[in-house]
Amino acid sequence: MQFKALLATKNNDTISTSVVDFSEADLSPGDVTVAVEYSTVNYKDGLALTGRMPIIQSFPLIPGIDFSGTVLKSTNPEFSVGDSVLVNGWALSHDHHGGYAQVARVKSEWLVKIPKPLSTRDVMAIGTAGYTAMLSVLALEHGGLTPDSGDVLVTGASGGVGSIAIAILSGLGYRVIASTGRLEETDYLKKLGAAEVIDRQELSVVGDPVANERWAGAVDSVGSNTLVNVLAQTKYRGVVTTCGIAQGADLPGSVLPFVLRNVTLAGIDSVNAPQTLRQQAWDRLAKDLDLNKLNSTITTIGLSQVDEVSRLVLEGKIRGRTLVDVN
Ligand code: NDP
Repeated sequence: MQFKALLATKNNDTISTSVVDFSEADLSPGDVTVAVEYSTVNYKDGLALTGRMPIIQSFPLIPGIDFSGTVLKSTNPEFSVGDSVLVNGWALSHDHHGGYAQVARVKSEWLVKIPKPLSTRDVMAIGTAGYTAMLSVLALEHGGLTPDSGDVLVTGASGGVGSIAIAILSGLGYRVIASTGRLEETDYLKKLGAAEVIDRQELSVVGDPVANERWAGAVDSVGSNTLVNVLAQTKYRGVVTTCGIAQGADLPGSVLPFVLRNVTLAGIDSVNAPQTLRQQAWDRLAKDLDLNKLNSTITTIGLSQVDEVSRLVLEGKIRGRTLVDVN
């Protein structure tokens, strides 16, 4: 079987991509073959396709860290032909062919069955960014946060993780403060559910190690100075999650928010999260995310536009989520 795929190759340290005819026989090993319907462009896809971080470990490779579709073939009795499934992370786009193709073959233990009422399109509109937003919300809840605890800050608010975190948290009854570098997106962020929008510059240069208490919790996808300031302004016994490095991977701060204010910093990894946690996150997304709000975050592109969009993601120029219709 031949199908269309975006293939990444590397010559002299430069990564380039092109849409090619690919053969099923050349796919990575696995016990389930999926007719892919949608993939997405995440920040990590930008890092992979530009080579800014060494995400892709073996070339040539079909990138794409997530996809959804229907099962074409399966030797695992838990998956039948026609089942709607999705994958986030694992080895996709590292050393296993990923989601930017019309067909993919993966290990069945990576697959999640799509919970009703979500469609294959909905779950990739949510994508790895939205699933990471839900992992962050689960971590806030695990830390004891409730809407009565106080405001919740979301940094990187116009991005994929940020946009969906705002929609989920406001739907759950939290008062959400959105931090953005794009104040022109204030209306968009308020429609998603933000009660207040602040300029990210307020948080971008490190200030006092403990400062005025402004929020009970935070979902941070930015890292670096921003995360240090977020921690410094978190209320006593508050909870902050960290999943991203849009400003930087450093954390040039102090332990004082932890030892004086009992603040919890919860790490979030979506790539190797255990299957039970993934299923819990997707079940909660099916229940707690307003799909009308989700639709306002989406731009749809084809395989041939992935390369260009992956560069714009790294420049912080993409709002919300980019869905890739591989067909
Ligand atoms: P996006 O590019 O969609 O969003 C990132 C947002 O961060 C931007 O939209 C921008 O928001 C803000 N931002 C960009 N540059 C800066 C900067 N220099 N200083 C402060 N803020 C900045 O990416 P995603 O939402 O898909 O991912 C966000 C981060 O989370 C990435 O680092 C990604 O790698 C990480 N991630 C980690 C996962 C994990 O498993 N740990 C899974 C998924 C994502 P605005 O314009 O509103 O300020």
